Amino acid sequence: MAIDHTHDASKRSWVTSANDGLTDFPIQNLPLGVFSPKGGDPRCGVAIGDQILDLREAVHSGLLSSPAAETLVGDTLDKLFALGRTAMRSLRHEVFALLDAERGKRDDVVLHPMTACAMHLPTSVKNYTDFFVGVHHAIRCGQIINGDDYELSQNYGYMPIAYNGRPSTVCVSGTDIRRPVGLRKRLSQDALPSFGPCQWMDFELEMGFFVGPENAMGEPVPIAEAGDHIVGFCLLNDWSARDIQMFEMTPLGAFNGKSSGTSISAWVITADAMEPFRLPSMDRLPGSPEIPRYLLDAADQAAGGIDVALTATISTQKMRSAGEGPVPLLRTHSRYCYWTFAQMLTQHTITGCSLLAGDLVGTGTISGPTREDLASFFELSFIGKELVELSNGEERGFIEDGDEIAFQGRCEREGFASIGFGTCSGRVTPALPLEQF
Ligand code: CA
Repeated sequence: MAIDHTHDASKRSWVTSANDGLTDFPIQNLPLGVFSPKGGDPRCGVAIGDQILDLREAVHSGLLSSPAAETLVGDTLDKLFALGRTAMRSLRHEVFALLDAERGKRDDVVLHPMTACAMHLPTSVKNYTDFFVGVHHAIRCGQIINGDDYELSQNYGYMPIAYNGRPSTVCVSGTDIRRPVGLRKRLSQDALPSFGPCQWMDFELEMGFFVGPENAMGEPVPIAEAGDHIVGFCLLNDWSARDIQMFEMTPLGAFNGKSSGTSISAWVITADAMEPFRLPSMDRLPGSPEIPRYLLDAADQAAGGIDVALTATISTQKMRSAGEGPVPLLRTHSRYCYWTFAQMLTQHTITGCSLLAGDLVGTGTISGPTREDLASFFELSFIGKELVELSNGEERGFIEDGDEIAFQGRCEREGFASIGFGTCSGRVTPALPLEQF
């Protein structure tokens, strides 16, 4: 797809809050989501500045005539995503025209103040898969567990690896996460497992993408076509109970350590909005094998990555009691994904596994190479051994009850309007009392 007039940095909206240069949602972004206005039921919308354009009302008023319009009267974006990027581009152009300052303010466009709306999951998320393509995270976690001479497993250089996650506990930003209980064992600290609340509660800063057009069972998606099946992106927090995970993971992989919740940002940044912010795929590591032919595509190698600056903050109960805002925890960048989104999609379907419209796929933790860009407490505190000092003097090895972790993502490129992802936040609440088990 080419850059078009919807990416023109000089364009403004008559919704004035979209024009301050700071908002995540200028007219060049137009992300899609599902929301309820005050007293109303869930419906599809587009974020513009500090407002939400009501797509259902726009359809009912006859303002949208693109083929996508009839998919927008439900309470998920599944049907829109199933149509794919061409139909979504027509919708983007129509919505852009409705909000364009040059065409003047329109009284027939229904807007809702974002602060008065509740957000919901954008799709039904029938399936959720979490990859492990953050290569610095993969190396560092291996070193923390196995020692400094750890080398990546052989499969890592050949293909993106993943586990099948729990769609039932994927939740929208702002949803509380209850501290899980289970059989836990803190690596070398505990000789035997014990039952109780997770003591190593962690976050993982990731990105996610949404699947659009479906592939039938038995029909893999070739790498050259994989981009057509990826319709949008979000921020994702794969909440992780490390002590539960450590005890259960050998030999079958992640299960209860990853099932208590997965938070995503509420707005889907469309693939079209991301067009100005594409990057080449990450350089191969020294000694890494050739990319298998079924995962290799020249266009994907040239522009299969995305350019998103990622940050995380923490807000503790003590900070909130003192009237203090959240403080920075880390910063990292989407460029540290070793495999591209298209490679993840093709890998997922190579056996004939079908993906459904609205399915969610996570990248895995996107840590960078330095001390400042570690995207989990597991790495930040070296599994609790080196406490992280917060700017108010508190220390953390892992997440404590009442801690709220929030992610932000921002795209910037000379000559283009900056766009953002909104927030992906969640607060960890106390575990259920043990007498309940
Ligand atoms: Ca993960």
